[in-house]
Amino acid sequence: MFDLSPEHRKLQEIARGVADAVAPFADEADEYTEVHPEVRRLLRDSGLARHVVPAAYGGESDVLDPLAIAVVREALMASSAHLDSLFGMQGVGSYSLSAGGTEELKAHWLPKVASLDAIAGLALTEPDVGSDLRAVSTTLTVDGDELVVDGRKSFITNGGAADFYCTLVREGEGWSMVLVPGDAPGLSVEPGADLIAPHILGELSFDGVRVPPSHRLGEPGKAFSLMLQTLAVFRVTVAASAVGLAQAALEESLAHAQSREQFGKPLTELGAVSQKLAQSWTDVEAARAFVYRAAALAQADPLGHLDYSSMAKVHATEAAAAVVDRSMQTMGRFGLVRGSKIERLYRNARPLRVYEGATEVLLDSLARRMAKKGLR
Ligand SMILES: Cc1cc2nc3c(=O)[nH]c(=O)nc-3n(C[C@H](O)[C@H](O)[C@H](O)COP(=O)(O)OP(=O)(O)OC[C@H]3O[C@@H](n4cnc5c(N)ncnc54)[C@H](O)[C@@H]3O)c2cc1C
Repeated sequence: MFDLSPEHRKLQEIARGVADAVAPFADEADEYTEVHPEVRRLLRDSGLARHVVPAAYGGESDVLDPLAIAVVREALMASSAHLDSLFGMQGVGSYSLSAGGTEELKAHWLPKVASLDAIAGLALTEPDVGSDLRAVSTTLTVDGDELVVDGRKSFITNGGAADFYCTLVREGEGWSMVLVPGDAPGLSVEPGADLIAPHILGELSFDGVRVPPSHRLGEPGKAFSLMLQTLAVFRVTVAASAVGLAQAALEESLAHAQSREQFGKPLTELGAVSQKLAQSWTDVEAARAFVYRAAALAQADPLGHLDYSSMAKVHATEAAAAVVDRSMQTMGRFGLVRGSKIERLYRNARPLRVYEGATEVLLDSLARRMAKKGLR
């Protein structure tokens, strides 16, 4: 039997408090394509972002706790995707720095990440490169005592709002990671695509951007190790966001089904409707149990349990899509109204199956590993 510890429960309460405070203006916040100031203030005052930074640099624990981060994201996403993204990206955007930065660079940026005085970004994707990151064409060259970055990055969360971007580059025959400050000369940012689920997105152009060698993250040519470490901690937390979203959708449809009558009965007493609700409840609970377990495994040994994080992400994000769709069906025509909460959840569920490992890509790598190593 798996349950959350008293510490995790306490954290969940704090996160639910922030989610409740954002709920009254979540519609507005989720339309924002820049940082919503009130969301930032509430998140900062909560101290929650300290959970995505190591204790030595203003964070909460020496080693990041994926279960703690998962519990927080589950609560935040039930209220607002903007809130969830603002919290989650502080960790996703800064983890290569935590794992591979120099002391000086970490001491400069990480306390500001923890206090939300600096916004973090992770720049991997390019206009022509998505899942196949080994094909990136942004380059890093060493020129005397400077590193020079040239190329373009696309669909970057917090693009334009971030104070720094941990950036994946091609360096000779290998791949490296470098921190580029948001105000570095030669870096320009255009607004990103207008998504069905609005998001802070930017298109980044690096035109001879120069940074000191101290901005290198990890060893030259070892960027994939840093990215794997990031995914090992954070992939399961996207799964947790999906659980929070699915629960919110189920709550919307249950409230509707309890309050509406057809054929002389509440919808909850019509067989097909009650079956849908029960199926969704089952899906939410199963996803939550798996996510908590995968997050607890990741806490013990992140890299050793990346497969479970991938499975949890596939399962929870696909389950969330099914639950939201069923919830809309349960609400009949009222599920189709623009501006309703269920419509926002429907739109917000969609990107979860694409970013931080699209479902098919994760299944593909799980299948290869299963064929090679068998079941554990
Ligand atoms: C809201 C949002 C925020 C984002 N934020 C960031 C960010 O902060 N930083 C960043 O770097 N990127 C970011 N991205 C980009 C995201 O990481 C990419 O969208 C993702 O990696 C998938 O790449 P793609 O969209 O180019 O799809 P593609 O790689 O072109 O894939 C298209 C389809 O083909 C499938 N496919 C691809 N390869 C395989 C394979 N080997 N086997 C089976 N199927 C496959 C995919 O599953 C998908 O269904 C963001 C995207 C979104 C939507």
